Amino acid sequence: MTTPTEAAIRTEVRAWLEANWRPDLGLVEWRQKLATSGWGVPHWPTAWHGRDLPEALNAAIEDEFTRIGAIGVAKAGIRTLAAATILAHGTDLQKQKYLLPILTGEDTWCQLFSEPGSGSDVAGAVTRADFRGNQWVVNGQKVWTTSAHKAHWGLLLARTDWDQPKHRGLSYFIIDMKQPGVTVHPLRQMNGHASFNQVFLTDAVVPPEMIVSTVGDGWTVTTTTLMHERRGADGLRSWGQGSDHPGRAYDEERAEIATTMEPYRWYPQRAGRVDLVLPRAVETGAIHNPATRQEIAKLLILAKSAEWTARRARAAKEQGRPQGPEGSLGKLASSLIARAAARVHTQISGASALLAGADGPHDGIIAEILLSVPATSIAGGTDEIQRNIIAERVLKMPREASDDSKKPFRDVPRNTVG
Ligand SMILES: Cc1cc2nc3c(=O)[nH]c(=O)nc-3n(C[C@H](O)[C@H](O)[C@H](O)COP(=O)(O)OP(=O)(O)OC[C@H]3O[C@@H](n4cnc5c(N)ncnc54)[C@H](O)[C@@H]3O)c2cc1C
Repeated sequence: MTTPTEAAIRTEVRAWLEANWRPDLGLVEWRQKLATSGWGVPHWPTAWHGRDLPEALNAAIEDEFTRIGAIGVAKAGIRTLAAATILAHGTDLQKQKYLLPILTGEDTWCQLFSEPGSGSDVAGAVTRADFRGNQWVVNGQKVWTTSAHKAHWGLLLARTDWDQPKHRGLSYFIIDMKQPGVTVHPLRQMNGHASFNQVFLTDAVVPPEMIVSTVGDGWTVTTTTLMHERRGADGLRSWGQGSDHPGRAYDEERAEIATTMEPYRWYPQRAGRVDLVLPRAVETGAIHNPATRQEIAKLLILAKSAEWTARRARAAKEQGRPQGPEGSLGKLASSLIARAAARVHTQISGASALLAGADGPHDGIIAEILLSVPATSIAGGTDEIQRNIIAERVLKMPREASDDSKKPFRDVPRNTVG
């Protein structure tokens, strides 16, 4: 089958939107319509709410949505990582049950990977899943779990075999977060938001059909989720505000942003808000300081080159070429940019950058940037871990010395019990 041209696709999606988009529809009803049409996720398989179109056409399609003001499928949050993982490794039953409510925004998800003793070393998980009777029974503790307090479903990494080496004794499950045995305790961050949680699992139950892939294949599935997270597939780097148009669908989207998506409100600030740097420099007069100008120029150059590198990676992917080093560099680059932006914001605003809330510059946004940026170099794998990945996989340098990956996990020294 030949790929249609961008112009043909634009004509087709425009006609469909003009015939079907109505702001007076309920948000879920509209998104169901979108999922049925395949225009909500056109790069997904036709069998699963998509149109099998190349990702390269997504930008043009989104452009048509913006032109008419139509709302897209729900894209922000861990749900996007769940969808990518289920599409890659899930059974048809799982795809049937979970993909549609992900797209309509009815279901929210969380990622139960990190534990008190295993964050960077996520394969060192000691949360256990034991097969008893005809179901999996899960016991353990997770931490840093974004949105667990809102989530219907969790992506759970748990140990199912202690006699296998570390990476081979893990399995990956979909767990119901609203069942007895799952206790969620919110944690408050230094920026005042509370998007993380500790999650305690005590005899929580997972039916056998909710394992993703096979027993012992959890590490492979986890790698898929992390790969999408590191490429920014959680849709949060660009996630912003709803529109101020009138209409039921818009009202419901605004309500969704205010409630379900509330844990992510500070995410634009954690990326450093490079967009605010020049306007702030002009507004405060800091633009006339040659030293500050120099720092602004360095930051904008860094941000632009990261953007072009990301575009190169996307273009390579769209043309079916193997991924080059660009993909691995993106996450590290975003963390360097966020920190550089926080430094420049401090230079521009001076000591008043420390003032939070309405007293602070830009209604406290500058203070929030300073308190949120450190998260960028931790979430989804720290800068050091990214550097290890680049060293080993891109530069082909020797792997970190360790014999942990060969022995049975129960014999590996660790600082937590399992
Ligand atoms: C905003 C945010 C959202 C998050 N959301 C989630 C979530 O939803 N679900 C979830 O499961 N987790 C989540 N996390 C947790 C995150 O994945 C972990 O914090 C991260 O992987 C680091 O693990 P850790 O905190 O245990 O630090 P550690 O692994 O204890 O690391 C401590 C320090 O040691 C360094 N270090 C560790 N190992 C090495 C090594 N081999 N070589 C060199 N240096 C090393 C690290 O770089 C770091 O500086 C989130 C974190 C943040 C900040």
